[in-house]
Amino acid sequence: VRNFSYIGRFAPSPTGPLHTGSLVAAMASYLDAKAHHGQWLVRIEDVDVGRNVAGADQHILASLQRCGMHWDGEVTWQTQRYALYEAAVRQLGDLIYPCGCSRKEIADSQLSLSGRQAQALIYPGTCRHGLAPGKVGRALRLKVPQEPHCILSFDDRWSGHYSQDLTDEVGDYVVRRADGYWAYQLAVVVDDGAQGITDIVRGADLLDSTPRQLYLQQVLGLPQPSYLHVPVVVNELGDKLSKQTGARAFDDGGDPHHLLHEAMLPAARFLGLDLHADNIDAFWRAAIPAWAQLLQTLPRRP
Ligand code: GLU
Repeated sequence: VRNFSYIGRFAPSPTGPLHTGSLVAAMASYLDAKAHHGQWLVRIEDVDVGRNVAGADQHILASLQRCGMHWDGEVTWQTQRYALYEAAVRQLGDLIYPCGCSRKEIADSQLSLSGRQAQALIYPGTCRHGLAPGKVGRALRLKVPQEPHCILSFDDRWSGHYSQDLTDEVGDYVVRRADGYWAYQLAVVVDDGAQGITDIVRGADLLDSTPRQLYLQQVLGLPQPSYLHVPVVVNELGDKLSKQTGARAFDDGGDPHHLLHEAMLPAARFLGLDLHADNIDAFWRAAIPAWAQLLQTLPRRP
């Protein structure tokens, strides 16, 4: 167990209230920070402005407080940090280029690809050496090295070794979107760097974003944090629990007993912590050492 130099964070997108799935991510990052006697920051990831729901940020913050998850320092909002993202793109210089391709054009270019490659939209590099005549550059992309392939790997504290060939599986990726908003991949890396985050604990749905983030850290000269991706809660259909798949908010601002029994204990159980507690303080007193013990059993092999 490392010391006070640990800085972790919870980085919710304010697309709705906390639900069981996002509570699991919040709880895991909080527990890991506390088990390491570290700091725990909260950053509202509101860069995808079209998906923000008015008041969701305050609702999430109030729920964290009611669950007894108190953050260190000031909460930050990504929409107040655009200057940092602009500076990062300026720093990247020639590695960045404007792209005028539509999703449809990129999809059409992939009809010849098969299997895994065809599933995710891999950018074929059309605008890499300049915009084709008649095209208007709307998005900004980051060049991914072609030869040799850009292969990035890391050891996830939960699931072990993970590796991805960015050249083959992703291609040059967007750092500023065609609608003018900053891309999640850029904002998250710049903020984690600027805030000195040492340990990232979040849902496994972001495992396959991590190599894109590692590459951005490298080209921006930022240190690589350590990662722990916890399993994501899925619904009966196997979809990640989210507002879109019908996740219900658990916190109506009421009874702490209800919060503990209907949300916190089930979230802890999902993480593999079998706890008994009659109130929220007792919950955390039991959960932090239980998490420290669980860490001894990691990484889990799939
Ligand atoms: N904002 C992202 C989400 O709510 C999480 C980003 C991260 O933890 O890196 O899914």
